Amino acid sequence: MELRKLESLDLENKKVLLRLDLNVPLKDSRITDDTRIQSALATIEYILERTNKVVLMSHLGRPKGRASEDLSLAPVGERLAELLNKEVLLVSDYLQEPVEQVLNHKNPNQIILLENLRFHEGETKNQREFAQALVQGIDVFVNDAFGTLHRAHSSVVGVPELLPPESRAAGLLVQKEISVLSNVQKNPKSPFVAIVGGAKVSDKIGVTLNLLNHCNDLLVGGAMAYTFLKFLGVNVGKSRVEEDKLHLVESIYKNADARRVKIHLPSDHLAAEEFDSHSKAVLVGSKDIPEHLMGLDIGPNTITSFSRVIANAETILWNGPMGVFEWAEFSEGTLQIAKACSDAKGYSIVGGGDSVAAVNKAGVSQGINHISTGGGASLEYLEGKVLPGVKVLMD
Ligand code: AMP
Repeated sequence: MELRKLESLDLENKKVLLRLDLNVPLKDSRITDDTRIQSALATIEYILERTNKVVLMSHLGRPKGRASEDLSLAPVGERLAELLNKEVLLVSDYLQEPVEQVLNHKNPNQIILLENLRFHEGETKNQREFAQALVQGIDVFVNDAFGTLHRAHSSVVGVPELLPPESRAAGLLVQKEISVLSNVQKNPKSPFVAIVGGAKVSDKIGVTLNLLNHCNDLLVGGAMAYTFLKFLGVNVGKSRVEEDKLHLVESIYKNADARRVKIHLPSDHLAAEEFDSHSKAVLVGSKDIPEHLMGLDIGPNTITSFSRVIANAETILWNGPMGVFEWAEFSEGTLQIAKACSDAKGYSIVGGGDSVAAVNKAGVSQGINHISTGGGASLEYLEGKVLPGVKVLMD
């Protein structure tokens, strides 16, 4: 089964419906990071070179089926207009007036952007009538919203199902993401180092078990590491531990043993008495953490040892922060791991909102070979799941 590619479609004068992931962070209706818009440009431009009848659609945030001014795609439309040097028509009443009519009447320099799909509950519920309204009069569907491929929503699955298979395809960003991730899954160059972090073992268990089939070293940081350390009988003080997930850690160790994967855990920590943004960092120079403290970041020795493993790797995959990186006192571990990934000679892939934010904050994004635009989607892909949005684009 092959992914149908944008390049295989005949787009001349066709009416194209393009699903994008324009779910950018906003503060007071201003875009704070336009990476996702920038990542969408290649596919939009490819299509515009062949037809000017393009309808863009995306979700933004979680409006839960109701229109809300805060989550309007208007600022995204304005940014797109600047970047593409086109007029972007934001269309809200696409359930009343078929998009086809707007397409027939617009001038050639205009492109259409549908208002936030999630203003309608038909989107997340994958309702057929909603999909039908979107696809009416459309010739071709292209999905370039990598970050939503794991969601069986109307604009991801319902819409393409209403068109013949030869009229649906994956955009350039989706193709790139899938090619990078499938390479990592199938034949990564070794040594392959996987770095996982973040809050919950349960969220990362599937991907971690799958990665053990391919990686040589697993570096564990963040709150997750304390459940690992606790399982090994190390004192973790007041650190966040998922007591009911110790059996998952046991299965990770069993699999790692069988596959000769080395698991690396923090050997020192930055800790605090309370989980508070004003807490001052206390250095704990050993694996064991005193009873009254909780680990909130990896310590300097761990940074050095993790960085050494990363420097020797040929393939590096990182998902999840090494500590509470949102607070400056506990951000060093995550920022230094971002730097180590960027400095490494190996092929580096970073996914997940927090890790990508850390790479940007550390100013090292240039050194990362592939920054994935979809955290959840990339994890599910690496777990070996068939993503619904991919399945519907396969031949
Ligand atoms: P996740 O969504 O599972 O990737 O977790 C990300 C969150 O984990 C971030 O908001 C971090 O602040 C948090 N986190 C990372 N390390 C720790 C830690 N040692 N203790 C508590 N929370 C942590």
